[in-house]
Amino acid sequence: MIKGRCECGSVRFEVNAVRQTVTVCHCSQCRRTSGHLWASTHAPFDSVKFTSDSGLQWYASSTTAKRGFCKTCGSSLFYRMNDEDGIGIAAGCLEDAGDMAMGKHIFVADKGDYYPVPDDAPVFRQG
Ligand SMILES: [Zn+2]
Ligand SMILES: [Zn+2]
Repeated sequence: MIKGRCECGSVRFEVNAVRQTVTVCHCSQCRRTSGHLWASTHAPFDSVKFTSDSGLQWYASSTTAKRGFCKTCGSSLFYRMNDEDGIGIAAGCLEDAGDMAMGKHIFVADKGDYYPVPDDAPVFRQG
């Protein structure tokens, strides 16, 4: 079991069965909503237990997916495809991600111009 929270603590959760790798997405939506890159792990939605969700707000970032963030502190926390049971969870909000490892970089074709193509994990130009 691993815990996570937003910066202000009004969104807190525990999750079982979380994936042990982190995917970094370089697409323009992820870059805007995160402020740089969206680094996330993944879990079945029903393995996430919210111990506080008073700040949780969902934003439909496209017709196929939504993003969860804290409406108080602005932390980018979650990503969900509308037709999938899973949930992407921001790696940065986890309290103990010591067992996790970098998995891959995706949508590198859309990356920002101000940083080089990363070389610490497999790179995919699209998703
Ligand atoms: Zn917050
Ligand atoms: Zn993305």
